Formats: sequence, C-alpha cells, structure tokens
Amino acid sequence: MIIVMKEGATQEQIDEVVEKLKKAGVESHISVGKYRTVIGVIGDEELVSMLPLTAFPGVEKVMPVLKPYKLVSREFQHEDTVIKVKDSVVGGGVFAVIAGPCSVESREQVVETAKEVKKAGATFLRGGAYKPRTSPYSFQGLGEEGLKYLRDASQETGLPVVTEVMEIRQIDIVEKYTDIFQIGARNMQNFNLLTEIGKRKKPVLLKRGFSNTVEELLTSAEYIARGGNREIILCERGIRTFENATRNTLDISAIPVLKTLTHLPVIVDPSHSAGRADIVPELSYAALAAGADGIIVEVHPNPAEALCDGPQSITPEIFSQMMDTLRKIASCIGKKI
Ligand code: PEP
Ligand code: MN
Repeated sequence: MIIVMKEGATQEQIDEVVEKLKKAGVESHISVGKYRTVIGVIGDEELVSMLPLTAFPGVEKVMPVLKPYKLVSREFQHEDTVIKVKDSVVGGGVFAVIAGPCSVESREQVVETAKEVKKAGATFLRGGAYKPRTSPYSFQGLGEEGLKYLRDASQETGLPVVTEVMEIRQIDIVEKYTDIFQIGARNMQNFNLLTEIGKRKKPVLLKRGFSNTVEELLTSAEYIARGGNREIILCERGIRTFENATRNTLDISAIPVLKTLTHLPVIVDPSHSAGRADIVPELSYAALAAGADGIIVEVHPNPAEALCDGPQSITPEIFSQMMDTLRKIASCIGKKI
C-alpha cells in the first residue's frame, strides 16, 4: 500500500500517519518528492485495512500496490533516483561510463587501465577482486590484494571504484575499499546477501541474472531497498536464449521497460552480453539510444593476455574511439557524458 500525501502536507501530518501505522504494526518508508511525500507501507496490510487513512489530514489518496515490489516502483517515487559518488553521477540525464578490466591482475595492469579509461572519459573504474568463475580451476581473483590495487588506481585517477562482493563474509572487506558494491548475475537471488547489503550505506550495482525476468530483478532490488539502502543501480547484462552467436542475448527492451516500472537508474553491460569484443561498441550505442543511464564495459590493455574474459574485452584504443561516438549520440538525444 502507498499513501500519497497532499501537496503541502505538513511534517506533523506526515508524522501522525507514520505513528498510526507503527501502532498498527507495520513499517513506513518515506519518499520525499519535489511536490509530495509518499509513504510506503511495508508489512501485513491486513493490519491497516481498518484504519480510515483517507480521513487523515494531509492524506490525498491510498493506493494498493499489486506488484511484488514497492519501494523501487515508480508509484512510490516518481522522480528518477540520481546516485552521486565523488564527482561521478549515475542517472539524472548523465550517461555513466564504468570501465576497467574484468579482473584485477596486478597493480600495474589496473593502474594503467584506469589511467587510459579516465583519459578517454570513463567516470567509474570497474575490476573484480573476487570472481565468480564457472570453472573452479579458472583464476578466482586476487582477493584483498586486488582491492588494494583498485584503491591505488582510484587514488591516482580520482575514479570511484565498482567491484563485486560474492558473499556475506566478504562485505566488510569489500566495503573498506570500494565506492559501489557490485552484485553479480549469479547472486541476483542470493536473498541473504541482498538483505545484508541493504543495511550498508554504499550504492549497489545489481546485475540481472541471466535467467531472471525484469520483475525478479525488481523484487531483488526491493530486498536491498527494504533495508534502507535506496542507492541501487540496475544492470541488464544479457540473458540466456537459444541464440549462440553471442554469449548471452542483450535484452534491449528491458531498458525502456524498467524505466517505466522503476525510478532506479538502469545501465547495460555490453561485454558480458556479447562475450565478444567486436560488437561491444554497437551494443553500447544501442544502450544509450534506448535510454540507459550508463554502461559497464570491460577494457584490458592486452586482451590476449587477460586472465578472465579476454575475448570480450576491448582495448583502450577501441574504448577511446567508442567514447567519441557515444558523445555524438548523447548530444543528439540530450544526454550528458
Ligand atoms: C563481471 O562483471 O565481471 C561479471 C562476472 O558479470 P556477471 O555477474 O554479469 O556475469
Ligand atoms: Mn567479466
């Protein structure tokens, strides 16, 4: 249930509603919009079904929410969520560019890549220190050592860091070094991890599972939002289909669909969708044109030598050329890069 307050409702009127809801045994989540405040009711709605909420001063309307998510819905918050980290932004008409290697392999590799992508216009640095690998014999990441190198690269370039956290036991250590937590496709429905991340104060980049629907992505985001952490970036990274010309199929429709359903920023990962470097620029252009708020893209100084995802990693040179084209498209559609 969502309670929409009237334009100009006073703080006392809002507090009164919240107090009544608390007494009835449900939680309230408040969204203060430009014009109105909206109160999301979380818990057993039966408990409040007898309250004459529309009769309260300051209440405009009470809306049932039939969807299995509320806090991340457009109904709950009309305005887009804009996430700011240092000088970088995701959402609000700015196209964020998160770039870097799939995995941190050495200090030199990540610092060099960070400098190159920064020069070309990236706004965040990506890199995995804990890697979810399909084979247990593949490189699993450098762990805390990798996190330290990411921090060094961030210090040298000013780029905020995005890195993956795979399990609850890693949260504290990753939080120490990262600016944004990444939750990978394989963990999109790790509800315990989502709940724990929801209690933290740093933004979260939540990737869509390759076999999950748009609605499931939103209900996973709701787990995070419920804990109080509303700074969530959704990421379309390709889904499994019968098609095998690409590693996964980039679901371009998910971008405009998500933008209608949620106020959260939506970005695209062209690298993991494609699984091949040659079409990464085109998928990035498509993402921008379809209304995405950014991309997360794998860039490696020497893809042939990469310990992970080399075939889909683009070089800094290609990245730089791609950025030039992205800037042209952005200027046509009124987005900033
Ligand atoms: C990654 O970003 O390196 C990654 C493992 O992505 P995904 O979780 O989308 O497979
Ligand atoms: Mn990768």
